[in-house]
Amino acid sequence: MAKRDYYEVLGVQKGVSEEELKKAYRKLAVKHHPDKNPGDKSAEEKFKELGEAYEVLSDPQKRAAYDQMGHDAFDPRRRAQAGGGFHNPEDIFREVFGGGAGSIFEEFFGGGGGGRRQDPRAPQRGDDLRYDLELGFEEAVSGCEKEISVQRLSACDKCSGSGADGSPRRKTCTGCGGRGQVVMSRGIFSIAQTCPRCNGQGQMLENPCRSCDGSGRAERAGKVTLRIPPGVDTGTRLRSTGEGEAGLRGGPPGDLYVVLHVKAHEIFERDGDDLHCEVPISFVQAALGAEVEIPTLTGRAQIKIPHGTQTGTTFRLKGRGVRNVHGHGTGDLHVRVSVEVPARLNAAQRAKLEEFAQLCDAGVNPISKGFFERAKSFFR
Ligand SMILES: [Zn+2]
Ligand SMILES: [Zn+2]
Repeated sequence: MAKRDYYEVLGVQKGVSEEELKKAYRKLAVKHHPDKNPGDKSAEEKFKELGEAYEVLSDPQKRAAYDQMGHDAFDPRRRAQAGGGFHNPEDIFREVFGGGAGSIFEEFFGGGGGGRRQDPRAPQRGDDLRYDLELGFEEAVSGCEKEISVQRLSACDKCSGSGADGSPRRKTCTGCGGRGQVVMSRGIFSIAQTCPRCNGQGQMLENPCRSCDGSGRAERAGKVTLRIPPGVDTGTRLRSTGEGEAGLRGGPPGDLYVVLHVKAHEIFERDGDDLHCEVPISFVQAALGAEVEIPTLTGRAQIKIPHGTQTGTTFRLKGRGVRNVHGHGTGDLHVRVSVEVPARLNAAQRAKLEEFAQLCDAGVNPISKGFFERAKSFFR
């Protein structure tokens, strides 16, 4: 589909001033806003088109590019692109109408926001909270119990959450005369807004609790004990039901979500329920074969290294990994050996090695043998 000219979209002339451009956008964006035209696809398209046109023409650099090259200036298939994709049309709208425009708009059109507004007098559930908790590697693998301190809105001690000093007595709100809304003018709109004094309830307490100002809640640190099951990992989220913020007007409390971050281990690396570690062995052990003691999460274990083992050979110890957090068995431990070459030799050792070297033919080192045979053609 051919794109319409941006000036035409906004109904303005080339060279339009910033002020006039904004005015034109405001007028049309309000008219075609999806909240005002629920289910109307063409309004949605128009709203998007308006956002795009405004975004380009309100930016001097983008406007200059558009004036020169038209829509090609923003075509991602062209190299002469003046900027990335376009912003969300709702973001543009909010930007033009100022910070809290989302809610202002909703009120302006009488709660067009899809039934999200609730009765200000109804009980309201407390907010959920997030807490990030760092765990040691072993704590995560074996499970543990942790006590954490959570800063949250809890029921006020003084009034036990009622918000009143004694038994609650109510009177008509002096801010809104009981209507729950006040009319404010903001830019080109006259807006009915929720009364800030009574939060839209139309009534206020005659005897508010002095400790919490009548809200019934106070910010407090609370202790929460967490039982961390074995097998958790970074990113595991635990929910503590009812440990979020206190509800309002008798509503239930929210939940507390604890997001876990597990510290790295010095030896083991975790991959889901499997563990990996690297164990150095001497080149003599690698050549002759050996029994090697290795660490596991549940103590030491022995592995048998066959003679002629190379660096990178991995041994799997079944069931020596991490217990699955959902109880689906236990992972494995993968031990990768790395062959260590002696870094310092005394005279006697050197003499023995030189003697050893003289006894060697190509068959001793099968990897080198294969390599040099394949590389022969390069050595000519
Ligand atoms: Zn009021
Ligand atoms: Zn109180």
